[in-house]
Amino acid sequence: MKKIYGVIGDPVAHSLSPVMHNAAFEKRGMDAVYLAFRVSMDELGDAIRGAKSLGISGLNVTIPLKEQALFFVDAEKVAKKIGAINTIDFSSGRPVGYNTDGIGSLRVLKETAGEIKGKSVLIFGAGGAAKAISFYLDTEGAKVTVANRTKERAARLASKLSNADAIGLDVELKERIKDSDILINATSVGMHPHENATLVTADMMHPDLVVFDIVYTPMETRLLKEATRAGVKKIVNGVKMLVYQGAASFQIWTHEEPPIEVMEEAVTDALIRTS
Ligand code: NAP
Repeated sequence: MKKIYGVIGDPVAHSLSPVMHNAAFEKRGMDAVYLAFRVSMDELGDAIRGAKSLGISGLNVTIPLKEQALFFVDAEKVAKKIGAINTIDFSSGRPVGYNTDGIGSLRVLKETAGEIKGKSVLIFGAGGAAKAISFYLDTEGAKVTVANRTKERAARLASKLSNADAIGLDVELKERIKDSDILINATSVGMHPHENATLVTADMMHPDLVVFDIVYTPMETRLLKEATRAGVKKIVNGVKMLVYQGAASFQIWTHEEPPIEVMEEAVTDALIRTS
């Protein structure tokens, strides 16, 4: 029988997950389909219980439901610490929640920067994505500095990590960047329609830095252009994280090797079509 997967959120029509997962199912010859379901916060519990009753195999959860969804699943250890999930697996009979934003971003960073243990990471942002990335970096033994416009929010996140501090954006960032191995933008700064915005310019970076911008619209943000100008060799865009979080969900649900290249191509084509 055909297996059904999907993403729940509100709004959800813009999600690139259907195109990415359907391409993966087709590549692997699976009899499965991935759909988008608009679900309001009020209906979240009913939606998750209903999905289980209907035999839906797996769900992704997107904005604004990621935190609330935690109350309707058994969450994996790090997802519980983060306080948000984006993936639900129904295969064990009860809904189990994961945070593959964190898992996907860690994979991106390990591929680009190698060993994470002992690395100094400066992460901009203290919202949902920054939280997921920071907790996974923390489990790997990184030293994390959370830099956020609202400093109290950065301090709250840093206080939950084992080796972290918090700063506002009003400090001498160049000095902080000089001492960092990895710089991550996990804010929405630079995202369409504000493509010219960046928190960091070329004169503040050094060539040995790893620069990772999780924003994927546009695919090459102003921050990444500035990194290129600064001679930075290791630069990653947000498409990689989007694909790797999807790949991690695919693996949790199907126990099959995700066809990464096909998933990346599907997402990139969709982004080019809509840009
Ligand atoms: P969020 O929870 O709303 O957090 C937004 C963050 O951006 C906050 O830290 C906020 O600071 C900061 N911010 C917003 N506008 C700013 C400005 N003008 N100057 C300085 N800081 C500003 O959002 P999120 O879910 O974490 O997502 C953040 C970005 O990541 C979005 O662009 C989203 O599309 C992208 N994302 C990408 C992936 C991927 O797979 N590549 C996954 C998830 C998210 P304050 O706390 O001061 O408000």
